[in-house]
Amino acid sequence: MAERSLTLMAVHAHPDDEATSTGGVLARYAAEGISTVLVTCTDGRCGDGPGGVKPGAEGHDPAAVVTMRQEELEASCAALKVTHLETLGYHDSGMMGWPTNDQPGAFWTTPVAEAADRLAALIDKYRPDVVVTYDENGFYGHPDHIQAHRITMAAVARTGIPAKVYWTTVPRSAFAEFGRVMQEAGIEWPEPEAGAEPEPELGLPDDEITTWVDTRAYAAQKFDALATHASQTENIFFLQLGRERFTELMGMETFVRVHDTTGAPVPEDDLFAGLR
Ligand SMILES: [Zn+2]
Repeated sequence: MAERSLTLMAVHAHPDDEATSTGGVLARYAAEGISTVLVTCTDGRCGDGPGGVKPGAEGHDPAAVVTMRQEELEASCAALKVTHLETLGYHDSGMMGWPTNDQPGAFWTTPVAEAADRLAALIDKYRPDVVVTYDENGFYGHPDHIQAHRITMAAVARTGIPAKVYWTTVPRSAFAEFGRVMQEAGIEWPEPEAGAEPEPELGLPDDEITTWVDTRAYAAQKFDALATHASQTENIFFLQLGRERFTELMGMETFVRVHDTTGAPVPEDDLFAGLR
């Protein structure tokens, strides 16, 4: 195949999502000379504030959170050697059911067509061969993740540019492994509240996963990227693993391929299989 530059675009909801679910592929493909574009849809204003102030608590200043998280995002991109960072700047909508869901400027209240227009313009500009986002449940039901999925699929359909589209996922076998390692490491993982509705099952059975990318060689960069977002409590659990366990647990990134024009056979071990 003729030498040409390839481009990966990852569309994420908040500052830090790029590191947790795609830090490995962003670092690996950048190291392979592939151009990487990160699109972060929201400003993360509903995250923890400086000093660990929780959203809704006294002293939680959304503007200060936005500034802090933008700086963290830029540091994460530097760790992952992301070629281009694009932020859409929608307001973080908060978790499902929070009053912030419906506030003006929230990503969740933005019409899909309107946000998809802006993303389509970026797809036109960068012409990504591969686009990565979340599944229709935003992997775990967060409104901004669901909305990122919706606008990505709309923008892909509108432009017809990417040859391959993927949704991030986690193999069910990994959840058990995760619990075991966390326990072994003595890390307290937040238990679901008593009497809470059972969560819909996350991830996919192993045999439904199309794409397994080995990013263990880039786990140190992924760890460093996540460490730039240590202001967010949920990331601290991963950092508590330490580098070795982190590599063991987070070194394989898995995806389900939902659009493909290359005919590359699955299962595959490379998002760019069939393109080079
Ligand atoms: Zn998120």
